[in-house]
Amino acid sequence: MNIPEIFGSLVFNDGVMRDRLSADVYEKFKALVKAGEPLPLEIANVIADAMKDWAISKGATHYTHWFQPMTGITAEKHDSFITPSGNGEVIMKFSGKELIKGESDASSFPNGGLRSTFEARGYTAWDPTCYAFVKDGALCIPTAFCAYSGQVLDEKTPLLRACKTLSNQTVRLLRLFGKETASVITTVGPEQEYFLIDKQYYLKRKDLIFTGRTLFGAKPPKGQDLEDHYFGTIRPRVLKFMEELDEQLWKLGVVAKTRHNEAAPAQHELAPVFSVVNVACDHNQLTMELMKKIADKHDLVCLLHEKPFAGVNGSGKHDNWSLCTEEGENLLNPGKKPEENLLFLTILCAVMKAVDEHQDLLRISVASPGNDHRLGANEAPPAIISMYLGDELSGILESIGNDTVYEHKKATKMNMGVDVIPTFMQDTSDRNRTSPFAFTGNKFEFRMLGSMANVSFPNTIINAAVSEAFDEFSTKLENSTDFIADVKALIKDTYLKHKRILFNGNGYSDEWTAEAQRRGLLNLRDTPTALSRLVTIKNIRMLEKYGVYSPAEVHARHEILTEHYCKVVNIEALTMLEMANREILPACMRFASDLAIGVKNKEKVGVTCYAERDLLTRVSELVDKAYAMTRTLTDYATTAKAIKDCSVAICDYRDKVIPAMNELREACDALEVIVGKDYWPFPTYSDLLFSV
Ligand code: ADP
Ligand code: MG
Repeated sequence: MNIPEIFGSLVFNDGVMRDRLSADVYEKFKALVKAGEPLPLEIANVIADAMKDWAISKGATHYTHWFQPMTGITAEKHDSFITPSGNGEVIMKFSGKELIKGESDASSFPNGGLRSTFEARGYTAWDPTCYAFVKDGALCIPTAFCAYSGQVLDEKTPLLRACKTLSNQTVRLLRLFGKETASVITTVGPEQEYFLIDKQYYLKRKDLIFTGRTLFGAKPPKGQDLEDHYFGTIRPRVLKFMEELDEQLWKLGVVAKTRHNEAAPAQHELAPVFSVVNVACDHNQLTMELMKKIADKHDLVCLLHEKPFAGVNGSGKHDNWSLCTEEGENLLNPGKKPEENLLFLTILCAVMKAVDEHQDLLRISVASPGNDHRLGANEAPPAIISMYLGDELSGILESIGNDTVYEHKKATKMNMGVDVIPTFMQDTSDRNRTSPFAFTGNKFEFRMLGSMANVSFPNTIINAAVSEAFDEFSTKLENSTDFIADVKALIKDTYLKHKRILFNGNGYSDEWTAEAQRRGLLNLRDTPTALSRLVTIKNIRMLEKYGVYSPAEVHARHEILTEHYCKVVNIEALTMLEMANREILPACMRFASDLAIGVKNKEKVGVTCYAERDLLTRVSELVDKAYAMTRTLTDYATTAKAIKDCSVAICDYRDKVIPAMNELREACDALEVIVGKDYWPFPTYSDLLFSV
């Protein structure tokens, strides 16, 4: 495989545009996109025509506007290029109008009350900052999606708005430091974790099919205890999958870079090279889609759920975030002497302030029913937001805070005691795996995202929050008479005011939970608790002020996320009931009945049957318990479903339905380990986790 040759071969990228458009049209297009101005129809027509010819040469027959409604996944509706030309013949056509704007039924997507079913109209509009590409025989045009009234109904538009605001605010701040740049981009590299399991086992589990995670399952004898899977040799079947995935991603211009086994058995990770955030977001959506499709071709199933299996790690998505000027300067690069780099320290403090002041929004931006199983569960970061800066930067800020001179730590040489191994310089700070928001050398890594997340929302929130901090800093500094002194004072003040958000210790420990509470940090343990804060006046005002979401859009998002939680838990409860009532309980009853027959037969011939009797008693007790829980869960689920107001229902799901689900699971998992394997109605954790 010639990688440079296939890379981007299915993308209508810059090279293709230069080839297929006249120099004049190409230049005009680039200039308009850069200026953020709308495209005149005559240019759109020329581009559409060139796109169509190119797409046909790549095997496309259709085109589609490709967008990201608030379903977590992408949406597409294929229209063929064919147009009747008279005489029963057709020609292939694609107009500028079709490229720029599409119409879709907005009421059939999550809309949080912004659309009722009778006012269905919604629009998709081309985002020319992302390249079009060919996938599944269709030319895919990345688009934004809004309601007839103009309110956004997607993930991309708020992200683009937040990027624009942050760019403006960063340019303004940089100017004060004597740095002129026209715009600043947000760079993001999302590391994607996932599980691969055998399709034949998957198809036998209703929980995996309906909910993407196991709702039952006793712990296997071996989990991730031996720590032998992380970075372990990639098994041949998985490697074949990874190779095809990489190839397909490269063709789509996704810079898939790193692949490895993750901590849990059957868990893996893919990381791309970072890119501008809206492209990173599109690419991450494509990556998840291709993971599923390619797994299927290999008789595997890719699970992207945040917690497919209890007892082993769940899957996350680390959102590596930074800012970069048009000239390519990474603004989070501390340089050799960060203690003298006032611009860097100012930006660092602004991020600190943003994270501290908007802990709730950051937590909300990663809240989902699936992620509730991870955050705070001794593997992912805790539900408490804190920031890790490492020893060096913490030391610098601390000395600014208490007016002492920072002693620059000399980088030490690493010597492994073996001459032939080259020596190298040790990093000035270690890493902290438990921190939700960690500085990792020249970027921040927001680690709370679940593996299924669309990265747009968290990045929209980070960008909005940092915009506010930059705005406030610039406003203060713009009237400064002694700039250097004022910047230093600002850094010091901000550090002292917000240092409570910094934590370099073990985020998984109970001591941290207690300490965080003492510091007054939020601990929004679950999605319902987090979501209730989305619509506070503080949040609505901030998001509106920076042009990211209108108040109506915030309310709509709140409703969508609340409803989503209720629906997910309801589906899980119903799936559990179906599996318990129609599979687990009948199987256990059959086992119990066979035991009883055995006891009768053995008693006839006069041998002891202590084991059978004892087992029968234990099974019968657990069956009674499980059965009782199915009745309770049915009642709770029915009651919760009947509650009209979803912000009330969500509490019922959390406080009643989920605890009942947990109890039902506990009884069934206890049965699994004592009921004969031949009786058990579906594959177990051992089958699922150790078969590929
Ligand atoms: P790890 O955190 O596991 O050590 P890497 O060092 O490979 O992983 O980096 C993780 C991700 O961070 C990659 O996707 C990488 O491209 C991305 N990254 C690196 N630099 C930046 C940056 N300046 N902005 C955004 N993402 C970045
Ligand atoms: Mg990482």
